Amino acid sequence: MSCLFCKIIAKEIPASIVYEDANVLAFNDIAPQAPVHVLVIPKKHIASIDDMESSDLVKDLFVVLNKIARDRGTCETGYRIVVNHGRDAGQAVPHLHFHLL
Ligand code: 5GP
Ligand code: ZN
Repeated sequence: MSCLFCKIIAKEIPASIVYEDANVLAFNDIAPQAPVHVLVIPKKHIASIDDMESSDLVKDLFVVLNKIARDRGTCETGYRIVVNHGRDAGQAVPHLHFHLL
């Protein structure tokens, strides 16, 4: 397995995990661009948003994003959710991830 985020899911590479369930993992970004910078990913390897097929998984991911946003207090102060797809957007890791900033 060569995917960096799949290695984090498998606990082969350490990460600061903030949430985990059967389908979704969330962990702090290693190079935070904001006081809160969490990556929320599906446990299933999906290369990019362009490969998303399951609407159930979309819902699961957004429920977790919403939960973390509330837990961190950013619902009061404000936050952004960012997804990069492909080279021109600067997607560096080819495993779908939502940035919560
Ligand atoms: P992208 O540019 O692909 O949308 O975002 C990739 C993100 O993954 C970047 O914000 C980068 O800092 C983060 N990242 C890259 N490698 C690691 C790592 O090993 N651990 C963690 N926690 N984040 C990483
Ligand atoms: Zn992967």
